[in-house]
Amino acid sequence: MNLKTAKTVLMILGVLLAASLLGGILTKKELFYWLDALIALCTIVFHVVFWRCPKCRKWMGGREDQCPFCGTKLK
Ligand SMILES: [Zn+2]
Repeated sequence: MNLKTAKTVLMILGVLLAASLLGGILTKKELFYWLDALIALCTIVFHVVFWRCPKCRKWMGGREDQCPFCGTKLK
């Protein structure tokens, strides 16, 4: 998976999380809180698994512009 696709998926997960949080606030249903936790967990796992440098394959943490390990510029 390339970074562009990973970024899109992370964005979708972010929107789902926001929607679920809002659902939880509005309806006060416990289901939404579980859903929030599940989506948040998926987001973290996805980030760690796919947010990697295309060259050295190391996890880039919060970086989006440049790999902190090998210096590869992204985009
Ligand atoms: Zn790298």
